[in-house]
Amino acid sequence: MGNKIVIDAHCHIMNNKCIPKKHRTRQSKIKPEIIEWILEKFDFDNTNYNWIDKFQSMIRIGNINSIEEVAKFLIEQSGNTKQDIKTMYVPLMMDMTHEPRKWILRKLGRETIMTFEKQVEQNKNVILNNPGIILPFLAADPRTIKRIGIEDFMQIYRKNGFIGMKVYPPLGYEPSHPVLIKLYKKCIEENIPVTTHCCYGGSYSTSKKDLNGKKLRTENERLEYWGNMPNPDKWFKMMEENDLHKLKLNFGHFGGDGIGRNLRSEIFEKNKKNKERAQIETEWRKSILDGLKDSKYPNLYTDVSFHPRMEYESQAYFKQLKGYITNNKVKSQIMFGTDWWMSSYVLKQSTYLLNFIKGAKNAEFDEVETDNLLFENAKRFLGLDKPNEGPFKNYLDFLIENYKLDNLPDWFREAFDC
Ligand SMILES: [Zn+2]
Repeated sequence: MGNKIVIDAHCHIMNNKCIPKKHRTRQSKIKPEIIEWILEKFDFDNTNYNWIDKFQSMIRIGNINSIEEVAKFLIEQSGNTKQDIKTMYVPLMMDMTHEPRKWILRKLGRETIMTFEKQVEQNKNVILNNPGIILPFLAADPRTIKRIGIEDFMQIYRKNGFIGMKVYPPLGYEPSHPVLIKLYKKCIEENIPVTTHCCYGGSYSTSKKDLNGKKLRTENERLEYWGNMPNPDKWFKMMEENDLHKLKLNFGHFGGDGIGRNLRSEIFEKNKKNKERAQIETEWRKSILDGLKDSKYPNLYTDVSFHPRMEYESQAYFKQLKGYITNNKVKSQIMFGTDWWMSSYVLKQSTYLLNFIKGAKNAEFDEVETDNLLFENAKRFLGLDKPNEGPFKNYLDFLIENYKLDNLPDWFREAFDC
């Protein structure tokens, strides 16, 4: 095979129209801190992509008019067509339509966000415009599923060419929500992969009441409550109680490594909040690893998306990763991912991949080990090893129905036997 294929198992192509204003302003509050951090890290960056570019890039992508155009920009930025490396992307849709918004502002048109249905439609267009290259996951929020009805929700999944489900508990629900249990059962039946956000922080609900109606008074209380929703132990408990050990589940971000505990940055060491975060994420990482090693869970995965440490503590980072994959089970469960466009904070998409390959090479990963991380594991997770069943068959049927099967690139057909 002439081409090398890489699967980015975790990225995003939503734009600001999918994100409530409150989430964006909350993020802008922490900006000065991050700017400081990046300035601190400036020396570590040997590309021409300086911190000003990074922020411009973040802001620019968010403001792109449609999801279709964001997808186009992703492909441009990755230089997909120029290199002999072909990258496939798995963008994870996010459903933020249940976030609290003030009635009056909504009425005035100040706080409208793209509806779930409209997001689905735009994602469908992305799939049709990029056969074999962009394979999105459908956002599975129990409140939306309840509104639509689970059977109709499954039809939305099937009829629009999605290849998996994305669950994001910090937006206001437990991984064990009864509606989700029903969904997981269907996912097991049809071999559909599920990815959950699994690091502390990121986006979390702005709701000021917890699920029992108790007040969450401060930003910190909200972070502690909603931020803990994707705790891997909640997932293991849920799988145990409902006999869902066979669920094909990816713990996105590997519990988190955004602000890894080995990070030398003084700014972050001094900050109590970051220390707490690092502690929690270390525990989550351990918990995920135990699960990955456990033969009780044959279909568990994790991805290494948004791990800035990979860039500025490359040696230590890859040494740790290498340690994990000495385990015979774990080596086929870790997947490459970037978290683009969030990762624009760190690196340009094309550089992200090249630096990952370089880091792995320096840490003496052999060809098979690298190929597992970049391709084989995600191929299995997505069901792309089985063209005649499950999500892959559904995807191919969708392309046939829409007269797009012929648009699949040759390298894709060759790699996946279809
Ligand atoms: Zn993400």
